[in-house]
Amino acid sequence: MPAAPLPRSGAASPDARRPAADPWRVELRELGRRAGSMQELERTVPAPEGFRVELIGVPEGAPVELHLRLEAVMEGVLVSGTVEAPLVGQCARCLDDIEDTLSLPVQELFAYEGSTTEATSDEDEVRLVEGERIDLEPMVRDAVVLALPLSPTCSDDCSGLCVDCGERLDDLPADHSHDVVDPRWAGLAGKLTPPPGTPGGGNPKEN
Ligand SMILES: [Zn+2]
Ligand SMILES: [Zn+2]
Repeated sequence: MPAAPLPRSGAASPDARRPAADPWRVELRELGRRAGSMQELERTVPAPEGFRVELIGVPEGAPVELHLRLEAVMEGVLVSGTVEAPLVGQCARCLDDIEDTLSLPVQELFAYEGSTTEATSDEDEVRLVEGERIDLEPMVRDAVVLALPLSPTCSDDCSGLCVDCGERLDDLPADHSHDVVDPRWAGLAGKLTPPPGTPGGGNPKEN
């Protein structure tokens, strides 16, 4: 009797049929719980929605680079390192598009369930190791949203828009101005201008 075909490894494993694992979650099996044990984590994950404030943010699905180090400490897992993500937004002064890169240091303790840190912290103040993994998304979300400027500008000295014509002042010549006469004074201005030839009526600028 022929042997049953061996199940193919990899593609046909039960894991392959599950939806892709959440890339923001990190399994801690490799790190373990021995204090002092360390693990580097280099990972690029897609930005979820909501990494933004009103005028600027990380586009949903854009690559967020995690350059992190996980360190097992007595109370939990200390996560530290840098997060980098592309930013897209709008200048609060001139409304021009802004493209930038956010590079942000992060450091956070994920406490073990039942640790003193968990017991002595308010529920919403402490991040927890859930089972044998941690979820990095809320930590990175908080850090990113806190770091985003509420009034982003396209440059430090953006002059904004001309109040009269709405053009970007930085795109206009330095002496850009409008000889706008308030319509309420237009008639009066005509009456006050002495007719040409009147003595003393010359334009002072011509002197
Ligand atoms: Zn601007
Ligand atoms: Zn103008």
